[in-house]
Amino acid sequence: MSDYLVDIPNQFFSDADGEPFHTCVVCGRNLLEDGTHYVIEKAMKNYEGYDFSSTVFEYAMCMDCYQKMQQGMSEESMQNMQNYYQRIVTEKGVNGMMMIDLQTFDLNDWLSRCFFKEKPVSEMKEYQLIGQFNGNHMVLNTPPMAIGEDVMEEMADLLSEKTKDEMNGFREKFLGPPPEIEELFSKRKILLI
Ligand SMILES: [Zn+2]
Repeated sequence: MSDYLVDIPNQFFSDADGEPFHTCVVCGRNLLEDGTHYVIEKAMKNYEGYDFSSTVFEYAMCMDCYQKMQQGMSEESMQNMQNYYQRIVTEKGVNGMMMIDLQTFDLNDWLSRCFFKEKPVSEMKEYQLIGQFNGNHMVLNTPPMAIGEDVMEEMADLLSEKTKDEMNGFREKFLGPPPEIEELFSKRKILLI
């Protein structure tokens, strides 16, 4: 199956310079070359009573490095995550493959609700955005997702302590201090989306 590609939406631009991410956070590889597959993850925070979100952390990572990071997960953790995903996707009554109709696909609408529980992200304190990319396009075969805070928590509960340690170690090495600390420093960096 070939990739369904669309332009990279603003939501997945880097806050650092307001442009698409161009290098892998781990290996520094150029991401904007056609055929280079990568993942972007952003953690967003809402402010009660205000209609904007700020980015708590963000990164782009090439598939090779992303897979290496996932190898840090224990088999049990990996299995738990897959089961969780499957269970919710089955509950939603879709087959987990192609879940979007490209004719009517509205990205802003799609990302305005938690992929798993459909709760609007505007009603949350925190949420994550994650998407897959190829060069200077977004890949819709694996649709981008907004993941709500309650799902993030449920997922974290499925990970073993060892996996959490490994993931946190990886994060800190490449992304700096944990978001809770970083947030104190980034409060002035409010981004309108
Ligand atoms: Zn890389």
